[in-house]
Amino acid sequence: MDYIKILQEIKSEIEPLLCKGKVADYIPALAEVNPDRFAMSIQLLDGRIFEIGQCDWRFSIQSISKIFAFTLVLKLLHQDLCPRMGHEPSGNPFNSLVQLEYEKGIPRNPFINAGAIVVTDILTSHYKEETFEVIMRFIQELSDDSSVSFDAQVANSEEENGFRNLALVNMMKSFGNINNSIFEIMRTYFHQCSISMSSKQLCRAMLFLANHGKDPLCGKEFITESQSKRISSLMLTCGHYDASGDFAFRVGLPGKSGVGGGIVAIIPNLMSLCVYSPRLNENGNSLAGTKALELFTTKTGFSIF
Ligand code: GLN
Repeated sequence: MDYIKILQEIKSEIEPLLCKGKVADYIPALAEVNPDRFAMSIQLLDGRIFEIGQCDWRFSIQSISKIFAFTLVLKLLHQDLCPRMGHEPSGNPFNSLVQLEYEKGIPRNPFINAGAIVVTDILTSHYKEETFEVIMRFIQELSDDSSVSFDAQVANSEEENGFRNLALVNMMKSFGNINNSIFEIMRTYFHQCSISMSSKQLCRAMLFLANHGKDPLCGKEFITESQSKRISSLMLTCGHYDASGDFAFRVGLPGKSGVGGGIVAIIPNLMSLCVYSPRLNENGNSLAGTKALELFTTKTGFSIF
């Protein structure tokens, strides 16, 4: 398969879309990014990388971090799902409050904000004030790159403007689904969202999931095959909030987006993928990025179906 040719075709076909959509501005620091950047990387299980665009440019991974924090919690608890949350798509925006009230503070899944905040709470009960360091080190280990770090300006900007997230955590606390200090949990959550990575680094960090939980390059088994199956299933059904069905329909792969404009995806037994384009559609997912992944699976014929 001539991956470079396919990536070049995709780049030229999505060109007209790169000016469509809107960067996230509810986190002021994210509104300052150059909206025109584009990058797409794929990494095969044998380590070969194919890429196009600005693949070394580090962007805010935002909700993509939810995969890594959730992985860490399953690893810690030796379970396939963390307690205190469900595994159903929410059909609602990532920061919706309404459903959480109806469902008595139990988040639908770990990939909406409420679920990710509970994940942070569980990690905090165990790792205390070191929780963010533990998450950071885990991502560095997965990406085999100790230079991965976070953007303090983005973290502060979110801390100062994260009113909805504070509402979510307070609502869950009122239902008894949060155990630690709200201040401490939210600091960690905002810092985790502010981690910056390139599309190349994200592909490397996702490779273990494309290989049933085991890093194909260093051989380390990060999680069990069963846990890997559950995470990938949740990515397929819940990775894009209220557009998860649409993403599965168009792309046919487990994926996860972030409001920073990145999307990661995996093709089990074959490769990990990452695309970056910061202008978002109305569901908060990269507009051109979603199309690029759709074109990739259409052109290659690779998908999980
Ligand atoms: N940090 C963002 C928030 O909590 C993450 C949301 C996202 O990427 N969808 O609002």
